[in-house]
Amino acid sequence: MSLFTAVEMAPRDPILGLNEQYAADSNPLKVNLGVGVYFDDNGKLPLLECVQVAEKAMMATPTARGYLPIDGIAAYDAGVKNLVFGADSDVVKSGRVATVQAIGGTGGLKIGADFLKKISPNAKVLISDPSWENHRALFTNAGFTVETYPYFDQSVNGGLGGINFDGMLAALTAATEGTIVLLHACCHNPTGYDITPVQWDQVIQVVKDRNLTAFLDMAYQGFGYGITEDGAVIGKFVAAGLNIFVSTSFSKSFSLYGERVGALSVVGSSKEETDRVLSQLKIAIRTNYSNPPTHGGAIVAAVLGNPELRALWEKELGEMRVRIKAMRQKLVDGLKAAGVTKDMSFITTQIGMFSYSGLSKDQMVRLRSEFGVYGTDTGRMCVAAINSKNINHVCQAIAKVM
Ligand code: PMP
Repeated sequence: MSLFTAVEMAPRDPILGLNEQYAADSNPLKVNLGVGVYFDDNGKLPLLECVQVAEKAMMATPTARGYLPIDGIAAYDAGVKNLVFGADSDVVKSGRVATVQAIGGTGGLKIGADFLKKISPNAKVLISDPSWENHRALFTNAGFTVETYPYFDQSVNGGLGGINFDGMLAALTAATEGTIVLLHACCHNPTGYDITPVQWDQVIQVVKDRNLTAFLDMAYQGFGYGITEDGAVIGKFVAAGLNIFVSTSFSKSFSLYGERVGALSVVGSSKEETDRVLSQLKIAIRTNYSNPPTHGGAIVAAVLGNPELRALWEKELGEMRVRIKAMRQKLVDGLKAAGVTKDMSFITTQIGMFSYSGLSKDQMVRLRSEFGVYGTDTGRMCVAAINSKNINHVCQAIAKVM
């Protein structure tokens, strides 16, 4: 009898499982559209030039690696604050934003969830249906009951799919006071559908009226319409006088997936209140992993804090955004050329790295087994992994299973 006799095998992570299947596939035309990672037109993971310049400067004057403060590099936290809320915003200038460096966007969500469990132990958490799979797991593990609000509906737009906004708003309106609502700030994962600015105003009104707690997950700032444009939704919540949580991820926008660079920002009502919040966020960090790692945060701080590098980053991020959009258009055109009669132009109205294709599980399975094209069973495909070399195969394959 071992200590672990009763330990059950946990289900495999569906996306990592897909990766393993992809790696084992001998099809020379195979394409991995499963994982949410941006690849360039040569199918390579980019190492951004702004990152390389920052790293070279860091190597020229090597520094010892002491522990960072619990909340991370001060210049990093300031850089995130300015990026997400605006350097000239009242909320930043008046000291009402507490920002802590976190281990990726996931770390920001986890620290926020732990802190929320302390201050609102009985609150329910609502996530979108569907949402990034880890949202449910993270908040469940932090001790919350997690439920969903309607979001994607295949029957919208004459069966082409879209957002059931009335359903979303009704669910938020019906939520108990104090409910924590997880919202995708931009580039919704997995569907690729974002609500409009006018709809955001409606959501904010309900959040305010119903006294809900908004937690905005910002994992793709800059992939929608631009850094400022995508960040505007945060400004709307702040302007409404709400106390919000914002998790930030630089995994995709800096192509620094493995460095685990992210942040959590919390907006308080006064500087004094925000200082108290910050002290509690530090407790959550201290009891999870003590303090964050140095390298990734130092790179991002260097880029955000230097006007030339910041401009270079913006240019490189813009190129990623534009390339994805071009691939969306090519996908629509290519599917038509391959004989698909269904109107697939919704792919160009979707935003960010993903497309909910509307394909069934059976069709997704056939795409994998017959054509080596890997997307998730839900029909999600990562458009950011399509390039000028593989797009023809992807279009032909999709056309054949449709
Ligand atoms: N939120 C969403 C919506 C995401 O898609 C991701 C990454 N897939 C994350 C958070 C986590 O980001 P990170 O890898 O920086 O932890």
